Amino acid sequence: MHRRAQSIGYLRLSLTRACQLRCIYCRPDFDRNTKSDELTCTELQHMAGHMVQKYGVKKIRLTGGDPTARKDLITIIEQLRTTAPDIDLAMTTHGLTLAAHAHAYAAAGLQRVNVSIDSLDSKTFARLTGADVLQQVINGIDAAVDAFAGGVKLNVVVIKNQNEHELVNLLYFAAARSVEVRFIEIMPMGELAGQWHTRFVSEAQMRARLDAAVDHWTAFPASADSARRYVATLRDGREVRVGFITPMSCNFCARCDRLRIASDGSVFPCLMDAPAGNVMRAVRPGFDAELFDQMLFNAYAHKKPEHPHDGIITMTHIGG
Ligand code: SAM
Repeated sequence: MHRRAQSIGYLRLSLTRACQLRCIYCRPDFDRNTKSDELTCTELQHMAGHMVQKYGVKKIRLTGGDPTARKDLITIIEQLRTTAPDIDLAMTTHGLTLAAHAHAYAAAGLQRVNVSIDSLDSKTFARLTGADVLQQVINGIDAAVDAFAGGVKLNVVVIKNQNEHELVNLLYFAAARSVEVRFIEIMPMGELAGQWHTRFVSEAQMRARLDAAVDHWTAFPASADSARRYVATLRDGREVRVGFITPMSCNFCARCDRLRIASDGSVFPCLMDAPAGNVMRAVRPGFDAELFDQMLFNAYAHKKPEHPHDGIITMTHIGG
């Protein structure tokens, strides 16, 4: 087996292309193709079980589209938990279902959630996401804080002239709930790549804005995490964990041990590159471990040392 394919620590499963939101940087309006054939709960379970055993996967993140658009989400969580009792099981979501279901997700075996929240201003939020649902997301975050003790992070994609002036408010919002906030550099993805240069804000520019509220930054030791993480000590004395995800200004390709499999079976050894094959043939009608391994071997043969500048596919297909 290929050396790199042997050491996949982190598997990201995009459960569906469907999502209730239409974030301007993620999903172009013209992406109506959400009805692709999706990997079933049993197929996900077979794949994940094999990858935990054979490749040493230690962490699985459910994403999308939005994973909560899958009606069988609770069953998927339960079955992954049964198959891999020790796995670190997390989900990234827009948070719209958390107020009602956070406790049920936790009871099924989910340990952590990352919730996207790009603005605390309801008009800006609606403009960025296509839906006037800010309060529902905030209620979801509060329910998640209750359900996943210590296991909630906030994701903020920072966009020039849209939400960059809100970073300090978002930092205070995270501090008030004792959750980590991650500020993400926008990536040029798929059909949206052409707009990237008008929207990009670098980590250095984010830090310059946050410095108005931060007395000092204490760095966490470097890890396989995609974020550079800090404890920010605020001028009012509170402490808040902050991550910067900087694929554009400072890539983390050398530390990347993740593999993404989209809901239609496409395999992405790199978020920004074209899919390197499709495992559907290896999981349907029954799981064929040998064929699956061969496909991963072939996929990893395409992985470049550094990601291309522009992503080939829209984020909503791959799952971030
Ligand atoms: N629907 C879920 C959500 O809202 O978080 C999960 C899927 S979304 C594709 C996963 C993450 O990718 C989110 O944090 C989102 O903000 C981020 N994302 C989407 N498009 C992006 C882009 N062009 N650049 C950087 N991050 C992006």
